[in-house]
Amino acid sequence: MQNRFRQYVDKTGKALIRDAIRCLQVNMGYLDNLHFRRCHGGVPMKMMGLAVMQDCLKFVDNAGKIAVDIFGESSTLNPNLPILIKILRQIKSVKQIMLRVNLDIIENSEYRHLPEFLAKNNVEIIASMPFYKETNLTDRQRFFRKIEVLKQLNSIGYGTKKSNLKLNLVYRPLGAFLPVQGNLEAVYRENLGNDYGIIFDDFFAIPNMPIDRFRAFLTQKGLLNSYMNLLIRNFDVAKLDKVMCREQINVDWRGRLFACCFNQMVRLPAVTFKPIGKIRPEDLLGLSIETDDHCFGCTAGAVCRGSSSYSWMNPENKKVAPVNCRQFDEYNVLQSTVNLRKYKSYCERLCGSCRQSRGC
Ligand code: SF4
Repeated sequence: MQNRFRQYVDKTGKALIRDAIRCLQVNMGYLDNLHFRRCHGGVPMKMMGLAVMQDCLKFVDNAGKIAVDIFGESSTLNPNLPILIKILRQIKSVKQIMLRVNLDIIENSEYRHLPEFLAKNNVEIIASMPFYKETNLTDRQRFFRKIEVLKQLNSIGYGTKKSNLKLNLVYRPLGAFLPVQGNLEAVYRENLGNDYGIIFDDFFAIPNMPIDRFRAFLTQKGLLNSYMNLLIRNFDVAKLDKVMCREQINVDWRGRLFACCFNQMVRLPAVTFKPIGKIRPEDLLGLSIETDDHCFGCTAGAVCRGSSSYSWMNPENKKVAPVNCRQFDEYNVLQSTVNLRKYKSYCERLCGSCRQSRGC
C-alpha cells in the first residue's frame, strides 16, 4: 500500500525525483560513547573502513561540484576521519566539507586536537545544541562541556567572521512540538552571547523525525498519533522543492545508499540497491525518491524549512518563519509532557507579544 506521504505528494502533482547530486552525506559509523541514540541508533563499533571510503572518494571525484556532509555524530570517533578530510580537501570539485560534531566528544582529551585540525582543513562545523541555559537541563555538566568546546571553537576563529570558518548550531525540540526558527535564533544568540560570550554563524531549528528513539518516546507517551497529525497538518507543498533528498545521496558505513540519513535509520534503501562503489552520480538522476510517513517531518510548514543539510550550502533557502500564536496552538500536544510553568516562560520568551491566556 502507498504510504500517506506519497499520497500527499501525488495530490500536489509534483514529482519527487532526484536532480543532479550536489551533496554526498557520509555516515562514518555507529560508535556511540554517549548512549545518545536519538539520531543514529547507537549500534556500537560499526565503522566505515578504508575500502568504502575509497569508493566514496571515487563517487565524489565523478560528481562535479559537490559538498560532502560527514554525518552521524559518532563519525568524529572514526580513526579514518582525518584521512578522509585531508583527501577531500585535495579534490578541487569539493566545494564544501561539513562535519556534524559531537561537542561532548571533543571535550574528551583524546579529541582536543580536532578543532585545530578541522580549522586547518576549513571544515564547516555543525553542532547540536539542545538548549541555551543550563537551568533548563537536568544534565548541567554536559551543558557546560558543550559551552567550553564552543568557546574553544570561537577562540580559533569558528563562527567569529574573522575567518571563513563556519560554526552552525542545530536545535531540535525535546518534546512533541514543532520548533519556531524566528525568535528562537535571537534567543540563542542573546543568551549564549551574553552569558558565555559565544557567537556562531547560522542557527537551524528543525523538527524531530518520528523515527527511532523519538518515535519510541512518542509511543510511550501516547503521542505518536497526535505528533503525526501535527506534521501532516503542517504539510507545506513549497517544502517539497527543498527537501535535501533531491540533490543529495547518503551512504552508510558499509557503502549502502539511502536518500537521506532518516531513510538510513529506518532502513529504507535507495531504489538502486547498489553500493556506492558500483554507481556513478549520473545513474541517480531522475530516479524516484523513496519515502515513508516520517517524510512529513521535512515538509511541516511551521518550521523554517525541510530538515535539510543541503540548505546549509544555500543560505538563501533559509526562511525565517514568522512567530505567531497559531504556532503556539500546536503546543497543546506538548502539555502532557512538560512542566507547564516552563512552557509558559518558553512561549513568552519566544514570542513576547502573546499575553492571552492559552491554558498555560
Ligand atoms: S525524510 Fe529523507 S526522503 Fe523523506 S523527504 Fe526528508 S529528505 Fe526526503
